[in-house]
Amino acid sequence: MSVEGPPDFIPSYQVIPRKHDTLRRLSRLVVGAEVYLATDPDREGESIAWHVADVLGLQAPKRVRFTELSEATVKAAVAKPERIDMALVEAQEVRRVWDRLVGYTVSPALSRRYGGSWSAGRVQSPAVRLVVEREREIRDFQAATYFNVRLYGQSAEGTWWLDLVGDGTQPDGRLTTRAVADRLAVLESVAVTHCADEVERENPPPPFTTSSLQQAASVELKFAPEKTMELAQALYEHGHITYHRTDNPNLGDGVLGAVTEVAEALGFRCVGTLRQFPVPRSAQRGHLGIAPSAWERHAAGETADERKLYAMIWRRALASQLEAAAYLVRRVEASGVDLGKRAVQFVGRRRVLQSPGWRALMLPGVEALYDAEDPETPQAAERDSDNALPLVKKGGWLRVGRGEVEEKKTRAPQRYSEASLIRRLEREGVGRPATYAEILRRIRNAEYVELKRRRLHATPRGEQLIDALAGRFGFVDLAYTREVEEQLDGIAAGEKQRNAVLGAFYDRLMDEVSGFDFGCPVCRKRPLRHMVGADRETGATYDYWVCLGERKGDCDGAFADKDGSPDIDRPLERRASAPAPSSGTPCPKCGAAKLRLIPGGVSAGGKRYGAFWRCDAPRCGEKFWDKPNTRANAPKEVVK
Ligand SMILES: [Zn+2]
Ligand SMILES: [Zn+2]
Repeated sequence: MSVEGPPDFIPSYQVIPRKHDTLRRLSRLVVGAEVYLATDPDREGESIAWHVADVLGLQAPKRVRFTELSEATVKAAVAKPERIDMALVEAQEVRRVWDRLVGYTVSPALSRRYGGSWSAGRVQSPAVRLVVEREREIRDFQAATYFNVRLYGQSAEGTWWLDLVGDGTQPDGRLTTRAVADRLAVLESVAVTHCADEVERENPPPPFTTSSLQQAASVELKFAPEKTMELAQALYEHGHITYHRTDNPNLGDGVLGAVTEVAEALGFRCVGTLRQFPVPRSAQRGHLGIAPSAWERHAAGETADERKLYAMIWRRALASQLEAAAYLVRRVEASGVDLGKRAVQFVGRRRVLQSPGWRALMLPGVEALYDAEDPETPQAAERDSDNALPLVKKGGWLRVGRGEVEEKKTRAPQRYSEASLIRRLEREGVGRPATYAEILRRIRNAEYVELKRRRLHATPRGEQLIDALAGRFGFVDLAYTREVEEQLDGIAAGEKQRNAVLGAFYDRLMDEVSGFDFGCPVCRKRPLRHMVGADRETGATYDYWVCLGERKGDCDGAFADKDGSPDIDRPLERRASAPAPSSGTPCPKCGAAKLRLIPGGVSAGGKRYGAFWRCDAPRCGEKFWDKPNTRANAPKEVVK
């Protein structure tokens, strides 16, 4: 695919060579036939249907959509064929045009500045940014020590405990003074300020969407998102589950009867109506939560991994429609006065499961983690059910048996896993279910991030990328990306005009790109490129900037660096007698006139290296360090 510039931004498409055979076969089959297009039921699928119709020259083809591959749903769809939805096709095309505009303009600008090959993208760069920012939070994190005081006592039913709520002297409510904690730990009694029993209901988590399925499979089954999608694809194609690329967790209206029947056969109770869950604003219409195609099928799949994934999908979908779990909760608040006459608050909770509802179907404790802010750092399980707090009237007293001081440390934020990064992107409204796994693959291949023990680490190259883009390009700004997604939705709804929206993106992007290049003040023709010099004696590296015209020998603009930008007031002196550093400099080893300047930078392993010359002659390939101020000596010292 390529794209024309303004005002019309007309994309032109080309068939990928390896798909030629498929198309030839299709074009033979469609002759004189009635054609039904049954591509996936989403924006991407609508776009594919339109392209197929276009390439095959189909006249008014029929479009059928279904979210599961069962005989009944396919027959029903074929009985009521529709037309291709051109607003959807257009919204998808605008998204792709925008992706291309960003990729085609920003990636070369990065290469002009830093040399080598760089890639930037509308979705992939914000993803790298999140990983880089998390990396820096972790680097800057300083652990703080604080104290909890836990008071223990006895009731008729056993041991109870209360925890300190903070003494009001610290802004974040944490007690940081050991001496105060020690004084509180010897309190002999506390006055009850609140004590009440109530029933707490806990609703089940929603059926899976693409991202929550990837998240859960990552936590529970240790599957990478890409693997989860392959397994789900197989389950979908065998008719076991509904369509698995979705951002809406809700089930279709027609399933209530089947769900109730299966639940009751297993001895569970449903709520009687279909339970609805919040839908992200960006969710596509027509999407539904991932569910089994046949609810009575408790197990399905060809391989062990498929069966594990199916079991998780089945359980979660069924649980979503069962009764809430009910707990009897007793909450006690009490205050004590320490020797310094300061009143402090303690709180305790006793939580006993009364009726398990949906929890009977799930591993206790696992599901709650999926939707937590950082789902893979479960807090140490608090066994609130063992807390034997008695029922005490307000104003009554509790006798303390003993107190304990617990020293705690604040913890650094966790690195993202692939799955939790996808969840975050979805929450931010960046990217779509069909593309998440592909985006992750790309940013790993480009070495902006790396996966170590299932956690994403930012590489120095990734940090360099974000330093270059952040604050200069709107598309790495999550708020801007959300705003643009809303405009795209406006196109899909027929409210916004395609060319006006694209024109506004384009103008802003062009401004940003032209502001990104540092023009060479010597020749005023070419931009400056960032270089890394290395001092061979000390091994220290430093940044500087050289005119791109240097390669052709027609400009010798070179400048020192200041905070990542060229310092135009500090030109680097080139020795007058130095030969023009061009490909005409002969290789000291083989004599071939094929030396090429490689601009230095940061290796994937994080080591900075200086600019060097490489001999391009076949069977030579020798490398020589560059010395920016003493070019005459440059190609003599061999890179070790
Ligand atoms: Zn120049
Ligand atoms: Zn050579």
